[in-house]
Amino acid sequence: MKLKTKLYLSFGFLFLLILLLAGLGSLFVRQLADDSQAIIKDNYRTLDYMQSIKTALDKTILTIGKQDSKSKAEQGFAFESILESIEKQKANITEPGEDKLTDELIKQVELLKISLNENIPSEFLLMQIATIQDLATKIYELNIQTLLRKNDTANQTAERVVLYMAITGISGSILSLIFIIGFPEVIFDPLQKLNEGIKAIASKKYDHQLKVAENDELGEIASSFNLMASRLKEYEASNFSLLFSEKKRIEAIINQMHEGIIGIDENHKILFINDFAKNVLNLSEEYIKGEHIQSIAKINDIIASFATDFALGGQESLTPKTIKIVLDKEEKTFSREIIPINISKDNHDKLENVGYVVVLTDITQYSERDKAKTQFIATISHELKTPISSIGLGLKLLNDKRTGSLNESQSNLIKGLIEDKNRLLSITGELLDITQAETGNITLEQEVFSPQEVITLASEALQLQLKEKKINLELTIQPELHALGDENKTTWVLVNLLSNAIRYSSEESTIKMTCSQHYENHILFEVIDQGKGISKSFQDRLFEKYYRVPGTKTNGSGLGLNISKEFIQAMGGQIGVESEDGKGSRFWFSLKSK
Ligand code: ADP
Repeated sequence: MKLKTKLYLSFGFLFLLILLLAGLGSLFVRQLADDSQAIIKDNYRTLDYMQSIKTALDKTILTIGKQDSKSKAEQGFAFESILESIEKQKANITEPGEDKLTDELIKQVELLKISLNENIPSEFLLMQIATIQDLATKIYELNIQTLLRKNDTANQTAERVVLYMAITGISGSILSLIFIIGFPEVIFDPLQKLNEGIKAIASKKYDHQLKVAENDELGEIASSFNLMASRLKEYEASNFSLLFSEKKRIEAIINQMHEGIIGIDENHKILFINDFAKNVLNLSEEYIKGEHIQSIAKINDIIASFATDFALGGQESLTPKTIKIVLDKEEKTFSREIIPINISKDNHDKLENVGYVVVLTDITQYSERDKAKTQFIATISHELKTPISSIGLGLKLLNDKRTGSLNESQSNLIKGLIEDKNRLLSITGELLDITQAETGNITLEQEVFSPQEVITLASEALQLQLKEKKINLELTIQPELHALGDENKTTWVLVNLLSNAIRYSSEESTIKMTCSQHYENHILFEVIDQGKGISKSFQDRLFEKYYRVPGTKTNGSGLGLNISKEFIQAMGGQIGVESEDGKGSRFWFSLKSK
């Protein structure tokens, strides 16, 4: 049976029950009312008439034997009342035998009327009145009897009504109770089972099936649910095999790669490692899979090197680093990059970290070529120094008046040649510095020096350039600071930053140089200009070797900032820039303080 039909039937049944109770109630009440009405209406009237006849007869008795007009009038009134009551009684005969008694009453009253008008002795009249009174009493009693009987009937009806109503009420209540208790079960049970089924599906238990007990709508829902569960099962099976084959394919690709790949989850546990990485790290997958990198770090130096970075966190740890690994008794150079994997779970916009991929790339070839190039540049720069010095000496001699006088254009030519020689000398000097930095051959002093002196030295060295461009240099130096590092190299860096600021600033602008305590144990140096600024997209590459912002017209090698970075980092400090296109730049570096 359909659920809809069940609902119709159940509520229809309740409706009928209510109708039955209402119908029976009004029927019984009607019956009771009819019975009571019968009592009040007919019999009560007869009692009333008989009572008035009796009263009128009593009054008539009092006038018998009296001949005065008042008595005669009273007798007339009394008789009138008797006649009136008799008329009414004639129309109100209800009980069997009442008609005969009424007829007899009328006959006796008529006889009394005649007797009253004739001169009949009082005794005879009183006898006649007594007969009428007797008849009236009989009619009265007949009606009283009927009243009592009807009252009994009404009482019986009332008792019957109470009984019937009680039976109907109790049976109706029992049926409603059964219905109220039983009906929600009919709906609730299947819904609860459906709910359990949905929860099972949500937790991927696709084997879950619902029992199809009824052929109604809930039964249809159960069948649809079962169909959905079996389809999901099929889908999962096909999806699983697809995913499995895709996983195999990706694993094969990762294993074929000539780079070491290590997958790490968000809790820093190793997820996978490809063949190349296994070989490089000399580890087997079974041994390290699922292990925390900190525990592998204890037995493997390479993992230990990036486990520290993981422990530290932060952007710095993610920047690629170069590491040396001995493979097959040969020292190899690898670049090691940690790439965080951020995805948006549940299609939310917010990205969440789900782990990292560590990529180990063998860069031995490139680093050897780089080393050869650096060596070459170092040799050339060194070799060039001697001829450049000879050129310088030659130009000095030429410029000397003692070796002969020069005309103006010759002397201008010599001036230009001296400037070019100086540029060549500074470029070869910078190239030598950079090769030293790259090969790790920088010799650094670790001394305590006064930042104030270094800043004064740097600003004095560039007085000429400042004057040429009419630039105002503002110095703000916190007194009594003591920096720890190489004084000469720090001066070199400051000169380089200040000379950049001068070169890339317009005339008559202001450059600020500051030096202050930074946190508890660092000193911060800043060079702030109002020049052309550097757009954000170029700032990342600014400290790279030979890098110059595209479109830079001023002469330069693109080495100054790179050398500065090498020097500052070698001293254990940090260097950086903040700038906006057209809004000036702020170059800063920090060193440890004493
Ligand atoms: P260069 O010899 O070219 O100045 P640097 O390494 O000192 O080499 O600087 C690299 C590049 O950075 C420069 O070519 C220039 O484009 C940019 N740059 C450096 N300092 C500033 C500055 N204060 N304002 C604007 N651009 C600058």
